[in-house]
Amino acid sequence: MLFGYFTKKDWAYVALCTACIVFQVYLDLKIPEFMNEITYAVQTGTGSELVARDGYRMLSCALLSLAASVGAGFFAAKFSASFVRTLRQRMFAKVQELSSQDISEISAASLVTRSTNDPYQLQNFFGRSVQILVKSPILAVWAVLKMSGAEWQWTAITVVGVLIIAATIASVMWCVMKLFRRIQWLKDDVNREVRENLTGSKVVRAYNAQEYRLSKFDEASSALLDNNVRIFSRMAPMAGISSTVINVMTIGIYWTGALIITGVSDQDDKFHLFSDMVVFSSYALQVMSAFMMLTGIIRGFPSAKVAYGRMTDVIERERGVPEGDFDGDTGIGGTVEFRNVTFTYPGRRTPALEGISFKIERGQTLAVLGSTGSGKSTLVKLILRQYDPDSGQILVDGKDVREYTRRALYSRLGYVPQTPVIFTGSVEYNVNFGETAPYRTREDVWRALEIAQADGFVRNLPEGLDAELSQYGRNVSGGQKQRITIARAVCKDPETLLLDDSFSALDFKTDKALRQALRERMGGTTKVVVAQRVGTVMDADLIIVLDDGKAVGTGTHDDLMRDCILYRDTARAQMEEGRCRPEARPGPASRGPRTSGRPCTRSCATWGSTSCTSSPGWSCRSCRPRRSCWRLGSWRR
Ligand code: ADP
Ligand code: MG
Repeated sequence: MLFGYFTKKDWAYVALCTACIVFQVYLDLKIPEFMNEITYAVQTGTGSELVARDGYRMLSCALLSLAASVGAGFFAAKFSASFVRTLRQRMFAKVQELSSQDISEISAASLVTRSTNDPYQLQNFFGRSVQILVKSPILAVWAVLKMSGAEWQWTAITVVGVLIIAATIASVMWCVMKLFRRIQWLKDDVNREVRENLTGSKVVRAYNAQEYRLSKFDEASSALLDNNVRIFSRMAPMAGISSTVINVMTIGIYWTGALIITGVSDQDDKFHLFSDMVVFSSYALQVMSAFMMLTGIIRGFPSAKVAYGRMTDVIERERGVPEGDFDGDTGIGGTVEFRNVTFTYPGRRTPALEGISFKIERGQTLAVLGSTGSGKSTLVKLILRQYDPDSGQILVDGKDVREYTRRALYSRLGYVPQTPVIFTGSVEYNVNFGETAPYRTREDVWRALEIAQADGFVRNLPEGLDAELSQYGRNVSGGQKQRITIARAVCKDPETLLLDDSFSALDFKTDKALRQALRERMGGTTKVVVAQRVGTVMDADLIIVLDDGKAVGTGTHDDLMRDCILYRDTARAQMEEGRCRPEARPGPASRGPRTSGRPCTRSCATWGSTSCTSSPGWSCRSCRPRRSCWRLGSWRR
């Protein structure tokens, strides 16, 4: 699976690194051969020239081996950086694809550690260990081949030593693997605490909650510390055991060597045996050092394995909401239809939306009204296919959203999220955003800003469209952020605009101007407007009133004022707050007075009727004289 992520370049780096390593091992194993000759020559007192010549050869081998090792290190570093970059990029691309459901399953804090800390762990591990991972087996096998033919006692001692070290490594790893796996999750916790503390720092201070937050952070951080201490205390004996085994093994080789040599009578055989013993112990040390090197990198192995697993878990994740394959033209533009849609969030028992049905045509406005938590944003998320409904159908342009490719669906929709999202960059970058950006001019951007009522404040910025917005739009107000995000959606000129509570931070006047601009200048665009203010939704073609996920009223403003208690109560409550009175609205409602005889102040049934605005001042004909009408939203004062 790992190799599946290798690019051609990665393979080339690995090949070059391996070539350097093979050359290095060849040179390293050549050195004991010269030692053999030198030892023999020194013992027999023959050829000081040979000693000098072999000495130089040994030196050259050592220097070339050094050069080969530098080369291997260079290519290993190149490989690890390139490999981890591939993984990081694929993960970034995948995170962009994931649905809200997937992201909430993995958690944003975990995604941050997986995109930053985990690749770092992996790069670190590969940088240090690629060489060793390639070198140790080559070195071990080659050294063993060189050792063959030597005294069986020495081979037996080496085998026992290797087995002891291998068993030690395996058992320690078995003990700590679980703890290593925990590290990353504990880091996620620490990361989450730090993030929440940073984003919520103002609230923390305002509530004097520093101590409380500190204790929560301390909990997460102590758990991480505790885990690390346990790992290192379990791994501590490993180095000691390995070096003891090597020392005992060397003593064993020399001891048995001494016994063998004393048992031989021929002097020349004795000399040969002695130099064989020196060379053998040198090879045995090489084999051991291969294992020791493995021990060194094996400490980093569990965390790298976990980091790799966590990254590939994201990369290979099947999108919770699979995409369809339709990306053509349906022949119907700008319609949105819900057919008896019911949806329950994963892990929730009650549905967030239940039995919702409606249809809007091209250019119409659907308004979704309801209190907080009534399911308004959920309705928009379903159109965006961030989730799929449990039952029922959602159709955009006459086709089930499940049939579209993601790109085809999103190219039809312009979305303004409830919480404005601003990217670090200029105003223009933030407004002219996405794949259609290159096709739009500065005039389009200004037009979008004008419709979104953001042109005034952008013109006042010293750099205008080039003014830099900081991360999260910290250098602009909430209302300005909202207008920029609305301008972004308008600039895309989609078939359908989805505005999720996007007017909440706007004052009544701007709210009204914006609605008017949308109506007049984006007449062909279908609009789905989520709002909490009756004033924002009253001129919509269709209004759905949501209560606890159910549609308790569907119709126009007038229908709902007549038939929907919740809508009427909401309208009245908001009018009392806003002390506003209704204005004459275009459309059927304003065609003639529809007086029910009730006063307009609290239980006015003459909303939008001419009677309500016909008389000057603050009263209307059907109301008690001189009694104020209440203003709704941004209706005429
Ligand atoms: P509104 O936009 O009307 O304020 P939402 O559509 O955001 O409400 O939420 C409707 C209901 O669904 C709420 O009860 C809320 O708690 C729940 N909800 C929203 N998002 C999630 C989620 N990601 N997971 C589980 N429940 C959610
Ligand atoms: Mg909402």
